[in-house]
Amino acid sequence: MIKNDCDLANLNEHMKKTLKLNLCQSRAKNINSCPICGHDKYIKYGFYSGVQRYKCKNRYCEKTFSLSTNFIWSYSKKSPEKWAEFIELMLAKKTLRYCAKKLEINLSTAFYWRHKVLKGLTFHNIPKYLYGDVHIGKAIMRENFKGNRNIKDSFRKDIWIVAAKGKQDNILSLPVCKNGWNAKEFEEKVYKKIDKESYIKAYGDRYIWAIAKKHNLNSIKTKEEVELKIRNFTGNVNKWFSCFRGIATKYLRGYLCWFIIFYRDKEFTNMSILYELAKDCSFINTEKIRLVLEE
Ligand SMILES: [Zn+2]
Repeated sequence: MIKNDCDLANLNEHMKKTLKLNLCQSRAKNINSCPICGHDKYIKYGFYSGVQRYKCKNRYCEKTFSLSTNFIWSYSKKSPEKWAEFIELMLAKKTLRYCAKKLEINLSTAFYWRHKVLKGLTFHNIPKYLYGDVHIGKAIMRENFKGNRNIKDSFRKDIWIVAAKGKQDNILSLPVCKNGWNAKEFEEKVYKKIDKESYIKAYGDRYIWAIAKKHNLNSIKTKEEVELKIRNFTGNVNKWFSCFRGIATKYLRGYLCWFIIFYRDKEFTNMSILYELAKDCSFINTEKIRLVLEE
């Protein structure tokens, strides 16, 4: 007997399951400890709905977990497709209000989802090492306490944002210091990542220029080419940020990673980002994200 499936409901159901399974498998290599207690000894413990399960060998824990534990959509009861749609809307810079309406989720859910994605981007989008000709520029933004009701002081410090690009397509961009130049923080957050033999080219900042001059004493000068992405960083980042009507300083780092995704040559799609996020085993539930954000 043949049971018809003219509107392809079976196929859709199958596709959903396949996507979820596939996303689970993409993180198999990244699980290296029990997500409940952190113990590094665990054993395979069968399958549930096609997903590998494990059992922790710490005798005080002995909990089971699987490749779908602490997934980006864990605890939210929403499907991976919903997340793919959300990421697509986020890449298109749609407002949270628009996302919430379109996906039929709460505005506060949309807010936490954005921050989960931003947290994921921070993990995957920061170059650890810069080599070749390294171009460094900066932008200054005013400190912003958006969302924080307890701040009465109207004084806003300047936040120094540094952007650095080596030979790779990726760009290191992060807030480095507050209220004036701080050489120690620059050393820690940026300079340490630069290869000793690199040639540094500084744009529009005397402090960075001085560091470049000192560093380059030991480097071989190359044919200097202008890196427009760094030279025009200030204007471009301000333009891209303008639609948000102010970003709280505590979220700046995540938003910069989001900007860099837009700014890089490499093409990102919602699915490539979803797979990247899926690989991360450290996603915590929304309640905990809320606590982290309110710190
Ligand atoms: Zn455990």
